[in-house]
Amino acid sequence: VSPLGPIRGGKPDKAPVFLVLLRDLTEAQRVERMRVDFVANASHELRTPLASVIGFIETLQGPARNDAQAHDRFLDIMAEQARRMSRLIDDLMSLSRIELKAHVRPETVIDVAPILEHVADAMQPLAIDSGVAVTLDIKDRPLMAVGDRDELAQVFQNLVHNAIKYGQSGGRVAVTATLGPGQSGRARRIAVSVRDWGAGIAPEHLPRLTERFYRVDTASSREKGGTGLGLAIVKHILNRHRAQLNIDSKPGEGAAFTVTLDCVETVAKPANPQPGKA
Ligand code: ADP
Repeated sequence: VSPLGPIRGGKPDKAPVFLVLLRDLTEAQRVERMRVDFVANASHELRTPLASVIGFIETLQGPARNDAQAHDRFLDIMAEQARRMSRLIDDLMSLSRIELKAHVRPETVIDVAPILEHVADAMQPLAIDSGVAVTLDIKDRPLMAVGDRDELAQVFQNLVHNAIKYGQSGGRVAVTATLGPGQSGRARRIAVSVRDWGAGIAPEHLPRLTERFYRVDTASSREKGGTGLGLAIVKHILNRHRAQLNIDSKPGEGAAFTVTLDCVETVAKPANPQPGKA
């Protein structure tokens, strides 16, 4: 609270007027704390693979200089660690690009159905490699929404990728898209659900899954090539779209990640317009 003193120039017989400036310092401190934590976490995530690469280079320059077998093995590990750093940097860049646009709402009207088809096709090679069948069931068409095509594709891709990675043991992933009814004069809602039948997630983790670098099991996430940023990116994109993410899971029963967003009603064109009527 900062009294700025009496405003001068008022009528002399009036009591002095004070301006009071209220600023929520706790919120500012919380945001600053989050920023500092984020930089520390990102540095730590990058330092781990980098330390491993440096360690292997030193071994190859020293004790393993003439060991041809060690050369091949170490080069494979170093390549994997370098790819991990590259994935992490890509995700960090995505996150900061989306954050820059956080307060700008998308303006284009797009159909979500072809985006889902594209993502399902693009994920096939990984699904086949992982022994998982990915099915797509679009129950209503079109699914028109105001949104950014590339960003929504990234949302669905991250969710399907996770379902394949963590739901692998279930053998299948089902993507379903429906158009729900509008309630009390509100827009109808598009719901896209990505479901797997893998190990599932314990309830205590659910509220924190979209935090940056939060993982249920860090070793397993790293082993599967995760960066810990996939769901944070999903959440940021959905916030910008005023869309919601609902996570439903029980350990041992798999998980369902459902995205809901407002549908833009399109005026249906008659299939055979009557002659003479415009
Ligand atoms: P990561 O790169 O580690 O996959 P994400 O932000 O995409 O990071 O996900 C955060 C964590 O949420 C994962 O590490 C994993 O523990 C958990 N998770 C995400 N999707 C699933 C899923 N379909 N089944 C079980 N756990 C999941």
